[in-house]
Amino acid sequence: APSVNRRLWTVDDVKQTLPSRDDHSHKGSHGRGLVIGGSVLMPGSAAMTSRAALRSGAGLVAIATEEGAVPSISPYIQEATFVQRDTLDLSAYDGVAAGMGIGRGEASQELIRHAVTHTDVPLLIDADGLYVLKDFLGELEKRTAPTILTPHPGEFAHLTGLSIKEVLLSPFSLAEAFARRYGVYLVLKGPSTIITAPDGEQRVDATGNAGLAKGGSGDALAGILLSMLMQSTSTLDGLSSGCVLHGYTADQLVQQGHSKVDLLATDVIDGLSHTFRTLS
Ligand code: AMP
Ligand code: MG
Repeated sequence: APSVNRRLWTVDDVKQTLPSRDDHSHKGSHGRGLVIGGSVLMPGSAAMTSRAALRSGAGLVAIATEEGAVPSISPYIQEATFVQRDTLDLSAYDGVAAGMGIGRGEASQELIRHAVTHTDVPLLIDADGLYVLKDFLGELEKRTAPTILTPHPGEFAHLTGLSIKEVLLSPFSLAEAFARRYGVYLVLKGPSTIITAPDGEQRVDATGNAGLAKGGSGDALAGILLSMLMQSTSTLDGLSSGCVLHGYTADQLVQQGHSKVDLLATDVIDGLSHTFRTLS
């Protein structure tokens, strides 16, 4: 029998679970995040993920990237710091988002393998990180802290060895089987996004619109989720709310000021201001 442990997660659920910002907090209270992302040819991804994390309340964000990419990333996110990619001390962070814009070569694979085996904090893997992860999926079962994978259907097809058509035919059951098998949180993105916990519990985010069907949207989502992971007591609630914050912000923007044609991921990141002001 199919799992019935599944429900829609809405803006009201976000309102009820969003952590409030303590008047006496300091930047350490809101999480030190690490973004392992970006490269000389794809610098924007790291800029967008780290900017989205900070816009979503993260206290501090550091970026580990190719040294040559630093000058092209830093002007777009003055609030972030940079760390060397090859001498990464992963113990200094409360959450890690890895894989966006890193490329699919051997160096990227070693970087992701290192993150999987050397972090005991929530680790989110996206984009190129998912591609190189395929060769050592079994390592995920050994992790003690939450692992979060955020594939779109093409990336999930790659991870499972199925076709995109097969993924789209049974997204709920495939997501549940995968999350249980590897002990991960799976965020299967699309016009509707399915968030599955390692025990099979599922949430559905039905917010968002076709304005998000554009490069950069996933990078923004990864940053929002990184921040939520560091600040939520429930990983499943935090991930579900992060997806709704992303889609709801895009929905608000196309109702006012933007269209589904022109909307950019950076608009969504800046639109978070209005979302947080009205929801929290
Ligand atoms: P990515 O494919 O990694 O760039 O991620 C795209 C992001 O935009 C995900 O969060 C998707 O859920 C969202 N998205 C893309 N297309 C749509 C759509 N047509 N309707 C709603 N959300 C979408
Ligand atoms: Mg993506």
